[in-house]
Amino acid sequence: MNVTQEFDTIAAISTPLGTGGVGVIRISGNAAFEITLKISDRKTLPAGKICHGWVLDGETKIDEVLFLPFKNPNSYTGEDVVEIQCHGGVNVVRNILDVVLKNGARMAERGEFTKRAFLNKKLDLSQAEAVDDLIHAKTSKFAIQSAKNLSGVLATKISEIKSEIFETASRIVAGIDFPEDVAEPEYSYLIERFNHSVSEINRILDCAKSSDILRQGVKVAIAGRPNVGKSSLFNALLNLDRAIVTDIAGTTRDIIKENLDLGVAVTLIDTAGIRDGDNIDKVEKIGIEYSRQSAQEADLVLFLYDASIGLINEDLEIYNIIKNQSHIVVANKIDLISDFKEEIKDTAKLSVYTKDGLEDLKDKMKTVVCGFSLEDTEYITNKRQQTCLLRCKESMERALEAAKREELQDMIYIDLKSALLSLDEITGEVITDDILNNIFDHFCIGK
Ligand code: GDP
Repeated sequence: MNVTQEFDTIAAISTPLGTGGVGVIRISGNAAFEITLKISDRKTLPAGKICHGWVLDGETKIDEVLFLPFKNPNSYTGEDVVEIQCHGGVNVVRNILDVVLKNGARMAERGEFTKRAFLNKKLDLSQAEAVDDLIHAKTSKFAIQSAKNLSGVLATKISEIKSEIFETASRIVAGIDFPEDVAEPEYSYLIERFNHSVSEINRILDCAKSSDILRQGVKVAIAGRPNVGKSSLFNALLNLDRAIVTDIAGTTRDIIKENLDLGVAVTLIDTAGIRDGDNIDKVEKIGIEYSRQSAQEADLVLFLYDASIGLINEDLEIYNIIKNQSHIVVANKIDLISDFKEEIKDTAKLSVYTKDGLEDLKDKMKTVVCGFSLEDTEYITNKRQQTCLLRCKESMERALEAAKREELQDMIYIDLKSALLSLDEITGEVITDDILNNIFDHFCIGK
């Protein structure tokens, strides 16, 4: 990666636009100090010192501020940086940014400060991604995990695995290049090392599910045939009137999603009635297919049936689709019957109509979603990192199989090289511009 590129000087508002105690405008690049001196009443800006002064637009006083000057490489981006702390009003920060831009800086793109920090080796890619995670964390637990990655927990683990593979690869190369002086490593030794690397990669990948749950929250789908009360339950859980409720079967045709807080962030999904049959029109059929998918993708499914009718074949077909994943069976409309006979063990009884059983159902849901072993999540990873790890694992498993078959070590070396490349992608040592832009495009301006 070329890190000696010439960058122009960029600027952006780094605090949210709104009214607050302080607003921050960040300037980064070679001209950061020069521009700041041009727009202020200060004669000097000693690096590392907090400097008090005024921002001026010509003769006009814009705001009384604090300047925080950082000399490269001791700054967030690794470049010369000046942060201007002004009064936190929408128009004050905008006015200051305007003056900065008028005097030679360019508006920063999304994530450009962090991208520069990465290009200047202030952060590796896993840490840069942790910055984004930290800012967008939906729960405090996820924010704490992201801070761990920012401090380099994932990067350190990856570098340990990399060193191990690298060392074995070096011994293989030495054996190949200097056969008279260096013996090729024993196959039993290779098998032991490769097994160890695979199990270390698995340790990180085992946390993938919890990572996804922490990042996105838990997906809970409500499934059941039409008219059993799915939309009514969706509304009752959210206390709103979002889904369309009618007594005509099949009125919820799309998937509707809303967020619910059960301690863990929950995305509640109301699926169209899962139902097979020839007489359903096309639109509803698409909805049913979506539902089947989202029920399968969900972390927890609330499977609803109508207690006043009892479990019928159509219900059982749907139950068979979801029964092997985390689910709660809910018998709804118990207000219509006087005597409830349990047909599936641990069925939750409910009347959305009278709200009987609603709190109990919420408690059951809480127990399940909080039990997704989030406490012991050692590593958090995103989809990109998981894909790289999976590729690395596949390469290592190929190397392992080849070592077991005692294949030529030249061939084994090829798999080790691709395993190392996959790990390099996680930390950003090998990365294409497309991937890089894709990552930083998700950031906000000013970060
Ligand atoms: P969906 O097709 O599964 O989404 O079902 P809806 O939520 O649209 O409900 C279908 C019908 O059943 C509506 O007329 C609801 O008012 C009614 N309903 C839903 N829950 C209950 C309940 O607990 N008791 C009674 N008596 N009716 C209910």
